[in-house]
Amino acid sequence: MLESTKSENILNYYGAYPCPVCRHGEITPLPLMEAMGCNFCRHIFTANEEQQTLSMADSQLSLTWYWTGQSWKGVPREGTEGKLVYGIAATIFVFLPTLIVSLAAYFFPPIPNSPLSWLPMVWSIVTFFAHLSCIIWLVIEYYQFPVVMYFRAIFRRFSMIWR
Ligand SMILES: [Zn+2]
Repeated sequence: MLESTKSENILNYYGAYPCPVCRHGEITPLPLMEAMGCNFCRHIFTANEEQQTLSMADSQLSLTWYWTGQSWKGVPREGTEGKLVYGIAATIFVFLPTLIVSLAAYFFPPIPNSPLSWLPMVWSIVTFFAHLSCIIWLVIEYYQFPVVMYFRAIFRRFSMIWR
């Protein structure tokens, strides 16, 4: 029986390829289906052998990658011109509230050595990280990145080294 190998340079439904989503698992053909699945993050993909592209099948997002023979290259999605706008919006979302809170603390400083004099400083830091975590969470949700599985895999790998 022919064994599918990683060294295959052409994308087809018989090979095994690294997963473009988690970059950890391996995508292999699913039995009885015109699709491929990752053995790690469990995402399902459809391949286009003619165009040598792979598309995510189990997501509303049309994420597509091009197979270069060794690795995946992200194919820009339609409407990605809006990406810069999102980036700016995210930056404002993180920094503007932080700026307002820290400016307030700067212009109306607490009485030194009063019991809660540490609060404005801590509040500014908390504001920054609270807004930053919102953005990080959105990005994770957007790409459906398997965070928990990813960290579990990293942990597994490290615990093997330590042993
Ligand atoms: Zn995967």
